[in-house]
Amino acid sequence: MERTLAELKQRLAEIADLAKAGGVLGWDQRVMMPPLGTESRADVLGTLGRIIHEAFVDDEIGRLLDKLDGQIDSLPYDSDEASLVRVTRRDWEKARRVPTELEVEMTREAARGHHAWVEARRTADFAAFLPYLRTNVELKRRYADCFEWSDSPYTALLDDYEPGMTTTEVRAVFDVLRPALTELVAAAPEVDASFLEGSFPTERQRELAEQMIATLGFEDGSWRLDPTAHPFCTSFSNRDVRLTTRYRDDNLESVWSCLHEAGHGLYAHGIASSLLRTPLANAPSLGLNESQSRTWENLVGRSRPFWQHWYEPLQQTFPEAFSGVELDEFLRAINRAEPGLIRVDADETTYSLHIILRFELEQQLVDGTVELEDLPEVWNAKMKEFLDVDVADDGVGVLQDVHWSSGGIGYFPTYALGNVLSLQIWAKVREALPDLDGQLAAGDPLELSAWLRDNLYSLGRKLTPRETLERVTGSADIDPGPYLAYLREKVASLQA
Ligand code: ZN
Repeated sequence: MERTLAELKQRLAEIADLAKAGGVLGWDQRVMMPPLGTESRADVLGTLGRIIHEAFVDDEIGRLLDKLDGQIDSLPYDSDEASLVRVTRRDWEKARRVPTELEVEMTREAARGHHAWVEARRTADFAAFLPYLRTNVELKRRYADCFEWSDSPYTALLDDYEPGMTTTEVRAVFDVLRPALTELVAAAPEVDASFLEGSFPTERQRELAEQMIATLGFEDGSWRLDPTAHPFCTSFSNRDVRLTTRYRDDNLESVWSCLHEAGHGLYAHGIASSLLRTPLANAPSLGLNESQSRTWENLVGRSRPFWQHWYEPLQQTFPEAFSGVELDEFLRAINRAEPGLIRVDADETTYSLHIILRFELEQQLVDGTVELEDLPEVWNAKMKEFLDVDVADDGVGVLQDVHWSSGGIGYFPTYALGNVLSLQIWAKVREALPDLDGQLAAGDPLELSAWLRDNLYSLGRKLTPRETLERVTGSADIDPGPYLAYLREKVASLQA
């Protein structure tokens, strides 16, 4: 078994290395590359993607897995070796079901769709985007046809982001969230947040963000932070984490955007070194990954204890904006609930409603129960129903998000699931670290990040998302209860 395992690991390590090389090129594209490099970068990434795909779906990997299948039974279920064989088998079988021509067509049409979307959003011209959307939806239906599902073809798409989860299961969670959130949003008082807009020199924002990130639990020399148009986090190993953010000189959005991406970064940083260069060196699902960005952005980064430490440095950094603002006022402002048009600007209370809306529309896109040309109208009606806002034009409506332009259907639910999961895990954190508030108020979140690393991040993808949740919380059920209780308390605390 040792030799077979070593052979499998060698192949997977080379594939992982190639994928990281592609990751560096992708990071460079979004952070450094001059715009005219787009076309040749697409060629390079296309070639690399094809080589990676072909190397992974190779018959030889299947032969090695077959040989190992019978031999891992004697190993503990969550051992690195047994997990590697089990998870690679699932990935391999999934990748083999998709014909290479379809893979290539999806990649090409995703790039075309993205290109068309950028212009269509700018000019709020849905009709110009429609043919590209039609093509991408059609391709996604063909992709879903490559798989078996029990309830809806949407489940096949969801599986790329939430392995093993069904549409029915997501719906059950969202059916609880929706009425409760609508009620909360209606009950939320108006809060003065005018001081969060003004003049915030970006260089000072950057210095403050770097100071904050440096305290969160990253080893020195393992991360960097760069500006970009659409913030993201990527990593090339657990010791090379790339955070990005966007600074605007008229607001402080970068503070929470940085904490959000740092949460993703801490996940990547915490993955056990023994899992590097294998398919296990990642989070088990986007929902679990997002649960940690939300943890650091919101559960930590909007909490009173965190700002008990950081409010004074913030006031010193931006005295014009905050010298006359009490901590209580600041906390109410950064925790306010206020319906708006744009998902990425949404607060914690309204955010998941934006997601549930997209989840409902995506299912209709896939099963064909909405005509694509009617999509703007349906979108606007739902925005009115869910959030009581009027959509001025499609640029701030149905065209606002990048996801559908490149066929990313099934991705949206992971954001709201991340919110829900973050609170389930947080309940365990609270039990384990009774003095957490005191530590955060002293500017020291190191016990928190160490606990999350040891109990969650280090596992990588060894277990399924459900198994991971059960390992951390004791239950495999996705329970919206703690998230709703948290929001109820938040909204209640907004009353002046
Ligand atoms: Zn995120």
